[in-house]
Amino acid sequence: MFQRHNSTAVWLPIVSVILCMGSPLYTLKSVKSQSESASQGLKSRKAFVAQANCAIVLMYHRVNYVSPNASAIEKDLTVSPKEFERQVRYLIQGGFKIVRLSEIEDAVIKGLPFTKPIVAITFDDGYIDNYEKAFPILRRYSAPATIFLVTDTVGTRGHLSWEQIKEMKRFGIDFGSHSVRHLDLTRLKLPQLDFELRYSKARIEQQIGDKVTAFAYPAGEYNSFVIGRVKAAGYKTAWRKSGGAVTPSDNPFALPRLRVSGNDTLKSFEWKLSNAISRAGQKPAKWRTSNPSKDKQGWVYRLAILCAIAGKCGCVFSFGCECGQTRQRIFRPLQSTLFGCLALLALFTPSERGDKQ
Ligand SMILES: [Zn+2]
Repeated sequence: MFQRHNSTAVWLPIVSVILCMGSPLYTLKSVKSQSESASQGLKSRKAFVAQANCAIVLMYHRVNYVSPNASAIEKDLTVSPKEFERQVRYLIQGGFKIVRLSEIEDAVIKGLPFTKPIVAITFDDGYIDNYEKAFPILRRYSAPATIFLVTDTVGTRGHLSWEQIKEMKRFGIDFGSHSVRHLDLTRLKLPQLDFELRYSKARIEQQIGDKVTAFAYPAGEYNSFVIGRVKAAGYKTAWRKSGGAVTPSDNPFALPRLRVSGNDTLKSFEWKLSNAISRAGQKPAKWRTSNPSKDKQGWVYRLAILCAIAGKCGCVFSFGCECGQTRQRIFRPLQSTLFGCLALLALFTPSERGDKQ
């Protein structure tokens, strides 16, 4: 019953099928290049990393096991100890050198280029699992790290105590300030803002007996006024909650980090590193070029197109049989528009996306 079909009804499905097939072909090409890259193995990945010459500062919150009933936020904030260990091992085996945050601070302050690919590990908020779960892993791999403390929460339920902080300090863990109460600093008046910056610094220095030079903005919120007060409080650097890799030209008081989420797999972790390096204008890290989560999104679009094609063919049949010219005039342009939009979405679904954190 393929009646009344006009030229549009014929070419639109054909074009869309081509577009729909083109996208998987594009992905297949990408997958092929990934598998080729993977087959080159660790040696090849190390070679790419060795050319990166930039610094990555990873930002974690919690390292622990979460129950399946935990909230989405808790799952996002919490990396499992098993996954954390895999990530640390991956960094070491993948050619990165895990360094103290102060090494990156010094390079940025002096404007020196990074001559080797280095990574620093940081934790925000001072959760007790940093001591119970992350610290043993860090010690096992002799990996340094920095924990940004919210001083009012130290010693409270679920958070580190000063004794644990001092013990970690003896084994190479550094501490920075994450303010006194974890408030949005951009909303505070001068006395409160200075209190958050200065009291937290002094309190940590008094407890650990060492200078605190790094500050991490609570919730990543800052502006030029806050930056001025951070400088005046005596910090050398301040860290954001996102932004990718660190380059020597970055503002020392708005330095980027790479957030690691509990939802990250080793593949997405690898992709974040590779993406951050290439976005920093360094040599492209070819060992992973597509975001695994975006690949899934691509398949959703393609499925939508197939549905649209099916719907389109069905409508051509039914309109031909049952409906009059008026309904055809109204519905056909709508279908074609929807159809075209879906096809364009599939065509331009990128396999490479920026870090939106
Ligand atoms: Zn925080």
